[in-house]
Amino acid sequence: MNRIWLPLALAACAAAPAQAQHWGYDGHEGPENWREMSEDWAVCATGQQQSPVNLTDALEADFAAAAIDWADETAGVVVDNGHTVQVNVENAGGVTIGGTFYRLLQFHFHAASEHTINGRHAPMEVHFVHQSEAGDLAVIGVMVERGDSLAALDSVWAAMPADSDASPGIAARVHLNDFLPTDQAAFRYQGSLTTPPCSEIVSWTVLTHPVTATPEQIDSFEMRHPDSFRPVQPLNRRYVLVSDE
Ligand SMILES: [Zn+2]
Repeated sequence: MNRIWLPLALAACAAAPAQAQHWGYDGHEGPENWREMSEDWAVCATGQQQSPVNLTDALEADFAAAAIDWADETAGVVVDNGHTVQVNVENAGGVTIGGTFYRLLQFHFHAASEHTINGRHAPMEVHFVHQSEAGDLAVIGVMVERGDSLAALDSVWAAMPADSDASPGIAARVHLNDFLPTDQAAFRYQGSLTTPPCSEIVSWTVLTHPVTATPEQIDSFEMRHPDSFRPVQPLNRRYVLVSDE
């Protein structure tokens, strides 16, 4: 598989500068070896707030919901960065968490899911990566189970580049809100990028309710990026909170 890094695109979950290092999800490029591949990636192994995690035994908390305010229809550019299919967006709105606004930069996919809920992976997870003016990240994770069609995927998959070369990407109209379940109850915890450099700068919100996509829709991504998830990491001294709404 072509592992060429695409410098124009944000890495999966990362607002990181371009990296010459090639990393992957298995073998000598796999997650257990990320720390060996660059001295800048040591936190992948030494960090105490790494992501993803298993979401279980969450504390019910009355925190303010992540107030998602995405544009209903937006222009996106679909790229394959060698690790995932990613859609870069501009002027697409964002999310307010704890009084801080985070602007939506991109979203991308993992198969199977990176987070697990009570130990179980969903077939796919979508990560919506937002950034505040201060540079902090807020990522919203949406689980995708097999079921009815997820119409919002069609325009994205239709614009999937033929391969992960350095092409500038393919334009697509994206209906962001169609990726959200009606009930936006969520887990919340403090974590990291799930890809190198694994920086611990992410406020995670993972919705407890999934959306569905057809097995064919999920296969379209999974056949291109199989096993594109980092294993769950120890929770250590963190808490996972869960809201009702
Ligand atoms: Zn991700």
